Amino acid sequence: MNRFEDELHRELEAVREAGLYRELRRLDGPQAPRIEFAGKSAINFSSNDYLGLADHPALKEAAIEAIRQFGSGSGASRLICGSLGIHHKLEEALAAFKGTPAALTFSSGYSAALGTIGALVGKDDILVIDKLVHASIVDAGRLSGAKLRVFGHNDLDDLEKILRWADARQTQASRKPRVLIVTESVFSMDGDLAPLREIVQLKDRYGAWLMLDEAHATGLFGERRRGVAEAFGVAEQIEVQMGTLGKALGSAGGYICSSRALIDLLVNRARSFIFSTAPSPAPVAAARAALEILQSNEGEQRRTLLWKRVDEVKNGIISAGWPLPVVQSAILPIIVGGETKAVAVAHDLLQNGIFIPAIRYPTVARGAARLRLTVSAAHSDADIKTLSDALSLRKKVDV
Ligand code: PMP
Repeated sequence: MNRFEDELHRELEAVREAGLYRELRRLDGPQAPRIEFAGKSAINFSSNDYLGLADHPALKEAAIEAIRQFGSGSGASRLICGSLGIHHKLEEALAAFKGTPAALTFSSGYSAALGTIGALVGKDDILVIDKLVHASIVDAGRLSGAKLRVFGHNDLDDLEKILRWADARQTQASRKPRVLIVTESVFSMDGDLAPLREIVQLKDRYGAWLMLDEAHATGLFGERRRGVAEAFGVAEQIEVQMGTLGKALGSAGGYICSSRALIDLLVNRARSFIFSTAPSPAPVAAARAALEILQSNEGEQRRTLLWKRVDEVKNGIISAGWPLPVVQSAILPIIVGGETKAVAVAHDLLQNGIFIPAIRYPTVARGAARLRLTVSAAHSDADIKTLSDALSLRKKVDV
């Protein structure tokens, strides 16, 4: 037992020395623009609750009603006896919202990626991913056993080179290898968009399939707020649309929207779906209520307000003299570089009542640590003013 503890302590010490130690921050209230932790009140610029739905009365009511009707737990996996009416209703609503024939929900976006990629490709196939895709996609790729090829971030030439190589590849297998490209529409740590039209053209030219993670785009982009695929007019050409219910939709869970055949295949093949207890009723009902709000006037008003806030925050960052890359989403990364420095800057901002988390390796590359600022429709004028003031103050100290 002592050797066990000693060894773990040594490893933790090495993490600390590298400036990479992480700790949980306990919050005793709901997601809101103002949060409190370690006895300190701060304005929260870290949540993915983009539309301010996580504490919305309609979502809470729907969750409470679902608990009354279906209880707190789903009791079993969907394929045993856990496939409740509420799951089916959410899936119908998701498919209608995204305009696809069918949808399937998972207990998280992470498990949606794991199950879906594993169901689509195996050791005789090729998985092609952008260098900056989310860890769930990387992990899914490793677990699938498919040959993994990584293209430079949003680098279409690099992607085409890989697709050409894959197209020419012969295998001993009885069928031609499947080639699945997976990318994000809004990159979670950089806030930039994928060149989707060009990626769709390439995958069609080379007979590959495309899976698109719209985790940070659903509810925010496109006329009907379906995501970037809708905004770019390519949704119908994308084989697999993935997302999470835990960000703009204010709940928890993951989903795949696609053809009926893919959804039926996932029910039969996606291990993270088959071998896991069905999502519990409350978040499922909350997500369904969020979809209704999203498609209403209120949803449009919240989205419009969010983009107004994003512009205000961008102006605040730039006029305080902080560097900001060109981004077109609600994720605004302020690149700091060193891990220790990023933590120190985040700490100083917290002293001034602003919470923006420092994001470090392994979430981003070493030496590319950043403050990842996210904006919500729930932020007020006063929140934005406090942020701008704190950034101006810190800049004077810093440079
Ligand atoms: N994809 C992306 C791009 C994400 O940012 C996240 C969440 N961090 C996920 C997938 C995983 O979704 P979930 O949190 O629902 O597991």
